[in-house]
Amino acid sequence: MPQRLGPPRDEPLFERLAIVGLGLIGSSIARAARHLNLARCIVAVDQDEAVVGRVAEIGIADEATGDLRAGVAGADLVVLCVPVGACGAVAAAMADALSPGATVSDVGSVKASVVAQVEQHLPKGVHFVPAHPVAGTEHSGPDAGFPTLFLGRWCILTPPEGTEESAVDQVAAFWTAMGSNVEIMTPQHHDLVLAITSHVPHLIAYNIVGTAADLETVTQSEVIKFSAGGFRDFTRIAASDPTMWRDIFLHNKDAVLEMLARLNEDIALLARAIRWGEGDKLHDLFTRTRAIRRGIISSGQETPEPDFGRRREEPKA
Ligand code: NAP
Repeated sequence: MPQRLGPPRDEPLFERLAIVGLGLIGSSIARAARHLNLARCIVAVDQDEAVVGRVAEIGIADEATGDLRAGVAGADLVVLCVPVGACGAVAAAMADALSPGATVSDVGSVKASVVAQVEQHLPKGVHFVPAHPVAGTEHSGPDAGFPTLFLGRWCILTPPEGTEESAVDQVAAFWTAMGSNVEIMTPQHHDLVLAITSHVPHLIAYNIVGTAADLETVTQSEVIKFSAGGFRDFTRIAASDPTMWRDIFLHNKDAVLEMLARLNEDIALLARAIRWGEGDKLHDLFTRTRAIRRGIISSGQETPEPDFGRRREEPKA
C-alpha cells in the first residue's frame, strides 16, 4: 500500500472546491486537496462557528465561512461531509446558490437515503455523484483529519442513472488523486455490502461494550483491567461518533436488519454447537474466518503486525 501522497498537480482539477462539514472526513479532504493542488481555491463551510474559526487557524482552506450559500456559490465541486441525516437539509438550503454545471458529491456512509434526500433539491444542470470513501477513524472534528487518510483505501461512487459521464470521471479523478481506488456500484448494493462490512460490526461493538457496562456480576474495573482479551478492540469501534452512527442505522434500516437476521441465525447455530460439544463445527468456522483475515492483510487493507500493530511498551525499570 502506498504510504505517501504524490506530488502536487501542475494544474488543479477544480477551480473552486467547497467542502461542507469540516470534521474528520471534510478536513482530511481539505488537507489532501491542498497538498495535491486539486483546486485553485478551497472553501470550508461549517455550521459551527468554532469549527470555522479552527479551520481558519490551522489554515487548511483558502476561505472558511458559516454561510453555506456564499460558500458554495461559484464552486465547480461541492462535497457534503456532514452526517447522513443532514444531507437533505443542506442540499435544500444551498440549492439555488449552486452554479449551473457544478457537481455535487458527498461522503456519506449510506447511499440510497442520501440519493433520495439530495437529488430532489438539485437544480437542472447540476450533476450529482454520490461517493463513500471507505476510510476513517473513531475520531471527529477538524483536528482529527489527516491528508493520507484515503491512501490505498476504496472510494465507492454511486451515480444515479443518467448522470453525465464527465462528472463521474471528474469525481473519480479527484479520489484517485487522493490515493484511493475507485469502484462504481448502485446505491442499494453499496448499502447491502456496507451493512455487513461496517454497519453491523459497529452495532455489535456498541452492543458488547454496552452489555459489559450493564453487567452486575463482573465489575467495571475488571472489564477495564482484563480488556486486552478482545474487548479492547471493540471499545475502539464503539468510541465512534454517536451522531454519525445514529444516522447510519436510521438511514440503512432495511439492509442492517436483513444482515442482523442472518447474524442471529448464525449465532444460534454457534450456541447450539457449543451446547452439544460440536468442536469440528467450531474449528471449521474458525479456520475459514482466519483465511478471511489473511485475505484482508494480503490485499493491503490491514497491517500484518500482531496485535493490530500496537506498539508494546517497554517494561519500566
Ligand atoms: P464529524 O467529524 O463529526 O464532522 C461532521 C461535521 O459536519 C461537523 O463539523 C459538524 O458540525 C458538521 N455539520 C453537521 N451538520 C451540519 C450541517 N447541517 N451543516 C454544516 N455542517 C454540519 O464527522 P465525519 O466523521 O467527518 O463524518 C462526516 C460524514 O462522513 C458522515 O456522513 C459519515 O457517514 C461519513 N464518513 C465517515 C467516516 C468515519 O469513519 N468517520 C468514514 C467514511 C464516511 P457540528 O460540530 O456542529 O455537528
